[in-house]
Order: sequence, then structure tokens, then C-alpha cells
Amino acid sequence: MRSEFIHRLVSLAAELADSVPGGKTSSEELGPNARWYASSWQRAGGIDVFLARDGVERCLVVAGAGPEAARVPGEVVATGERPVKVAAYSSEACAALRALFPWTAPRALPKHRPSFGCGDRLGVATPGQLRGLRHTRAALVLAQQSVRELTLTGRSYAEVVDAATWGVFQEGYQEGFGADGDHLKTADEVRALLDAGATFITLDLSLCLGCASSLPEMPDAVRRLEGNSWELAGERLEANPDDLRGFWRVYGPTFAFIEEADALCRQARGVGGYDLEVSVDETAHATRPLDHLLLATELARRGIAVTSIAPRFPGEFQKGIDYIGDRERLEREVAIHAEIAHRFGYKLGVHSGSDKFAVFPLFGRHGGDRLHVKTAGTSWLEALRVVAATDPALFRAIWTQATEGFPRAREYYHIGTSLADVTGKADVPDSELPHLLNDDACRQFLHITYGEILKAPAPGGGTLSDALQENLAQNEARYAHGLEAHFRRHADGLGLTSS
Ligand code: ZN
Repeated sequence: MRSEFIHRLVSLAAELADSVPGGKTSSEELGPNARWYASSWQRAGGIDVFLARDGVERCLVVAGAGPEAARVPGEVVATGERPVKVAAYSSEACAALRALFPWTAPRALPKHRPSFGCGDRLGVATPGQLRGLRHTRAALVLAQQSVRELTLTGRSYAEVVDAATWGVFQEGYQEGFGADGDHLKTADEVRALLDAGATFITLDLSLCLGCASSLPEMPDAVRRLEGNSWELAGERLEANPDDLRGFWRVYGPTFAFIEEADALCRQARGVGGYDLEVSVDETAHATRPLDHLLLATELARRGIAVTSIAPRFPGEFQKGIDYIGDRERLEREVAIHAEIAHRFGYKLGVHSGSDKFAVFPLFGRHGGDRLHVKTAGTSWLEALRVVAATDPALFRAIWTQATEGFPRAREYYHIGTSLADVTGKADVPDSELPHLLNDDACRQFLHITYGEILKAPAPGGGTLSDALQENLAQNEARYAHGLEAHFRRHADGLGLTSS
């Protein structure tokens, strides 16, 4: 950080002493590409705390003395009656924020509100996501990252939580948020993510679904469901012996994992201190409503209270683009799935939920407040939209890297796009590059190649990841604005904006 910047922070701190947070303050500009965030300013125990930025470098500033100030790491840059301390962005600084302001730490979601999850692969999307979603009915999950994304971005889950803490503090968002360790397939992954701060654990059953070698005997309670029938959303579901056997063959082997994960969560967070989601969305076939019902019945019998269940819906929920498939069939089945969730008192989980504008209204209609929607890579695509508009050379370098890495990236994701679908599409004048972010094939191509892009060297030295961070720091307002508009559209479509 430049010394001129530090000087300005010191005089700003003196100026704030005569005012109150939320009151009238001077300009947020502190020089070329340097600023402070009035929305972050808090006063606690006689000290002032706020965030500022000098280029890509972000810092936490504390003015005043006392036990609270002592808890914040950093360097004393002004002494006297009201000393000023500056801490660069770090895990210690984020931990200090969580200790001083508990609303910057993740926690369990309120049970009776819909919820909305956002992924942030670059760690700088939270402010824009909050602006788009904070005025809706949805409770928010901000630090949401799958093990796959952690591997591909080379980040730890603790870093993901830190990024959310920082963003939440920057925006002064005090409503609380969840932290989702997404798509966890083993008890070890559950343990690791709980240790790293997750409050929302999403179990991916794919390793144990249908696993013949660990199929337990069908419990009598399941056997006794034979011949039962249920009226759900105007459809009649009936459990005949074949259906029950089929259900048990597929789901029977999953209950030991779910029970173990639930016990780990309870141990780490206490009863009511966590959210547990069971997801089967990344399976080959649509989840049969009867199987969902039997799964819910068996979980309830075992005393496992889930926050949500995410079935695989009919049709295609591909990443970053709209729904592909038969909307009437989807609506019929969503109605049943939603009613099951409603009866058992949990939420219907919708994964790969970004950009499904054509079907948001039907999810809103049937899910109502019992809906948990997840989005992930769409915030990354909004970042690339900013780069396309502000630094065509960087965007072209990203595109080249994506082309090179696409075959490897495809192994991780199910998408309909092939390399041939995007070849030549970037051969357009610079001014047209942002339009590529409105093209389904290009969106998917850029959506899944982030791991390849982030680790690649940049033409001007450093990595593409560094270049991206620098670009987004310079265009912070533009990125936040893009995200705000993008997530408003999601909330509007899902009916989350109305009271
Ligand atoms: Zn999923």
C-alpha cells in the first residue's frame, strides 16, 4: 500500500471520529483507484472499523484503542490518543471480523424462508450478489463451493468463507448467511468442510446410490409401506412391491452415509446449528416422485431432519444456461416434489439453478417459500463479461486458454457444448466480445474451463488469475452492478421479490 494512501486513511479516521456510521461522510475516493467503503463502517466499543482498497490491495482499518482494537492484527500507522491500525486482507483479519461482528460468520439458515445460494470462484462477488438479493425474502448462502470447484480453483474452503466474511462486512449486511460445502461425497469431506467453517452441508449420494456391496436388509418399516398410496398434487402414487424393492436397491445403501454425516454435523454445530441437504441431482435419470417420497419417509423415520432435498428433475439443468426439456412434464413433477417437501417440512433444492429464467416462475409457483436455489458459475461468467468489455486482450487470452483446456475441463462437467460449437466465435471486433456472454455455447465453454484459465500464465507476466483480480478491482462498481442486475432477474423470476 502506498504511503499516500496510508496518510489518507489516517485523516479519514480522524474525520470519522466526529460523525456516526450511516451519517454524512466525505467522498469514498482516496486517490486514483483507491477508496474506502462507507457501507462497511462500524463502531464497536469506542473503535471505528472499516474497509478500504488501494488498487488490488484491500485492508481493514481500525481507529481507536482498547481491547477490541487489540483483537485485530495489523500495523499501527498512527499513534496518539486515537491510534490507527491497518491490516491487509488475510485469514487473520477475516477471523478478527468474525470475532468482533458475529453477523460476518456463517450460521444456520432460518427455517421458514426460501433460500438462495451463490458461488464465488474468484472471492470478490459477494458485494454484487448481496445487492441483487438482500432486499428479497430469501435467506442467503454465500460461501458455497463444491469440492470439485475447490480443486479446480486451488482454493481452500476456509478461504471461501473468508471471502464471504469480507464481502458481507463491506456491504454491512447483518442478516446472517450460510456457508455451503457443496456436493460432499464422503464422511471425510464432511469432516473437513465442517472444520473449515461450513454450516450447510450438501451430501452428494452418487458414490453410494445403488451400491450393491453395501446394501443393507430392507427394514420392516419400509416393507410395511407396500400397498400404501398417496395423493400428491392431484396425482396418485402407489407403492407396489417392485417399486419398494427398486427404491431400496438404489437408496438403501445411502442411509448409513447420511446418518454419519448428520451425526458429524450435530457434533460440530449442535442441534439446530447447521443445514443438511441431500442431493441426487447429478444422476443419470430423473428422480421418480415415489422414490423422493420414500426417501423422505425413511429419513423422517430415522430422525434425520434435512433442510432440503435436491432431486434430479426431468429435462436438462445444464450449467449457466436456460432449461432444456419438456416444461409441462417438469411442472407436473415439480408440483409433486414440492408437495412432498412441504408435507415433510423441508425445502425443494434446485441445483444448477442459475439462468433458468424460462422455468423460474413454475418453481416459484409450486415451491413458494419451500425452495432452495443454488447458482455457482454464473457469477464467474458475469466477471468475464466485465473483462470482455474492459480489456479485450485479456479476454482473448482467457479464450485461448479455455480452448486449450476445454478437453480436460469437460471431464468434470456435464454440458451439451463441444469445441466445434465455439470455434471461431471470438473472431469478432473487440466491441462485440461482450455479446459472447449471451451465447449458450460460449457460456458453457467459459463456465467449465475456469480451472484451466485461473492457473494459466498471463501474457504480461503473472497468472490469468492475477490479471482477472486486477481487472475486477479496477472495475469493481461495474462488476457489482452486473451481478446486482443478474440476481435481481433471478429473484424476480422466482417470485422472491414480492412480500
Ligand atoms: Zn448439484
